[in-house]
Amino acid sequence: MALRADMDALPVEEKTGLPFASKVKATWEGRTVPVMHACGHDTHVAMLLGAATVLAGMKQDIQGTVVFLFQPAEEGPPAGEEGGAKLMIRDGALDNPKVDAVFGVHIGPGDPHELNYRPEGFYASSDRITITVKGRQTHGARPWAGIDMASVAADIIQATNQIAARQVDVGVSPSVLTIATINMGFRQNIIPEDLKMEGTMRTFSKERRADLIARMQKSVTAIGDRYGAKAEVAFTQPYPVTYNDPALSKWVKGTLEKASPGKVDDNAALVTGAEDFSMYAEKVPGVFIQLGGRKPDVPAETVPVNHSPYFDVDEAVFETGVKAHAFMALD
Ligand SMILES: [Zn+2]
Ligand SMILES: [Zn+2]
Repeated sequence: MALRADMDALPVEEKTGLPFASKVKATWEGRTVPVMHACGHDTHVAMLLGAATVLAGMKQDIQGTVVFLFQPAEEGPPAGEEGGAKLMIRDGALDNPKVDAVFGVHIGPGDPHELNYRPEGFYASSDRITITVKGRQTHGARPWAGIDMASVAADIIQATNQIAARQVDVGVSPSVLTIATINMGFRQNIIPEDLKMEGTMRTFSKERRADLIARMQKSVTAIGDRYGAKAEVAFTQPYPVTYNDPALSKWVKGTLEKASPGKVDDNAALVTGAEDFSMYAEKVPGVFIQLGGRKPDVPAETVPVNHSPYFDVDEAVFETGVKAHAFMALD
């Protein structure tokens, strides 16, 4: 069986004020950016190393082999590169020894020491959305002589939000379409020729994913046509739904109860976040579990969540994470 910890960070400037707050900078897609463990993957490494230390000291009690998966690039490799679970699997992370089951733990702002998960679909599937528009440059004083890219951008964003909110049945299955970056232009009086926008799509079923891709393509192309521009949308780096094996989910509850008595919830809410743990769980039965790490003095209503520059956890919960890993291996 395998236990997985991801270990990458994010282009976020840490503002926690902790004495060990990150001051690291790195290059991300051509830009110098601050780097922070804003998703808590550093804590995942700490907890899995803890479990490895414990388990290495009791090899005689282990019936089988435990594989420790330390995985980079869970948040996604740079555009055009490969990485993460996909590359780990291709490089043989689940072979030799052959892995029969895989478990992962992710820390978050939930109640301290709570372990929660749900059987079947748990985390959403994720697609990276890239919208590119080619227009016609013109003077800002003469928009009619070219194509007004800001209007194209605005229309595409409105249409995108409208698709998710008004065109698909939110009662059958939730989905999210987000445009998060808009890049165009350099000067206040020049309407540029190019527009690039990026975003993310989250769905919980293959049918909904295909439906939204078709609707987005139709909508973006039509808006471009209306302005005389060439607009295209691409969906890349898909992460599948994180699917918790139903039988294994049932089995693991008792084991988790030993790690955090009275604080195990096997009916957690759906998570619109995505995880490339899903790729291991497509190959072998798996269960992905969340660990609550909120500091006791921080109210649940205002706690900074994963990816926030203020993300921080109570290190006391590491013990629960180590126990969860170790008991899952032993059982
Ligand atoms: Zn993350
Ligand atoms: Zn994460």
